[in-house]
Amino acid sequence: MPRLAVLGYPVGHSRSPAMHTAALAELGLGEEWSYEAIEVAPDAFEPRVRAMPAEGFVGANVTVPHKSAALALADELAETAREIGAANTLLFADGEVRAENTDADGFLRALPASPIGQRAFVLGAGGAARAVVWALLREGAAVDVWNRTELRSRHLCEEIGGDAIGAPDQTAYELIVNTTAVGLGGEDPFAELPLVPGRFAAEQTVVDMVYGSGPTDLLRAAESAGAATVDGIEILVQQGALSLELWTARPAPLETMRAAARR
Ligand code: NAP
Repeated sequence: MPRLAVLGYPVGHSRSPAMHTAALAELGLGEEWSYEAIEVAPDAFEPRVRAMPAEGFVGANVTVPHKSAALALADELAETAREIGAANTLLFADGEVRAENTDADGFLRALPASPIGQRAFVLGAGGAARAVVWALLREGAAVDVWNRTELRSRHLCEEIGGDAIGAPDQTAYELIVNTTAVGLGGEDPFAELPLVPGRFAAEQTVVDMVYGSGPTDLLRAAESAGAATVDGIEILVQQGALSLELWTARPAPLETMRAAARR
């Protein structure tokens, strides 16, 4: 019985096993494989992970706040995880822990078009921003990064690339990506972020990593200007699909995962 899990603290409702459980069933693996949510405090993370292979686990997703710790304990690192400085996927085989990062490619797959040659504006400088900035630069976009705490955006750009900026002109970008947690607790994005609701344009793509039960205020404003929008659930689905493919070596059933994630 190969077991899979998501490790977080706390593991919120959005990381319920439903999406992966539905995908395993669709692949005909539902009888053998399982995916469960495990809450683990930061000081218990490493021993918990080390014990997992003997308990039948073949892999795990790792979420807040364990993504750096997952990288630090791995015996083998995928280049993406090493360069981003965080891992969201672990694979257990032959007594070794391999760390991967599917957040970057999951983000790129969620975009309606390749960002090559585009001017991109990323808001935020936390874990999600690191994967997004890395992915955009690798694809050949020019990336400006704004963060409430400017020191953090400067550090991010020194480590990964991009330009830390203080006062953006939101009309200057083809792609705008909110990687901050603003909106998660019902905050007004236009009060907290340097964006104006009436200044989006139809030529833009606007992405909000925050996910909830419906479109965020940010995406609603972008949509009313005719911009293309991508929500956090689509990114969650795409990174989850890539993790599933690493564990099972089977193409992930995207539609099934999307439907389960949106329920
Ligand atoms: P994190 O490392 O804790 O970073 C949080 C970021 O949000 C920081 O840049 C922080 O700025 C900013 N922030 C928080 N409150 C703010 C406010 N009131 N005004 C302005 N900026 C504020 O978190 P993370 O892991 O990057 O995650 C960020 C968001 O992305 C969360 O909502 C998370 O759920 C979402 N996410 C979604 C996916 C997905 O698959 N859809 C994947 C990963 C993350 P300071 O540096 O100034 O504190």
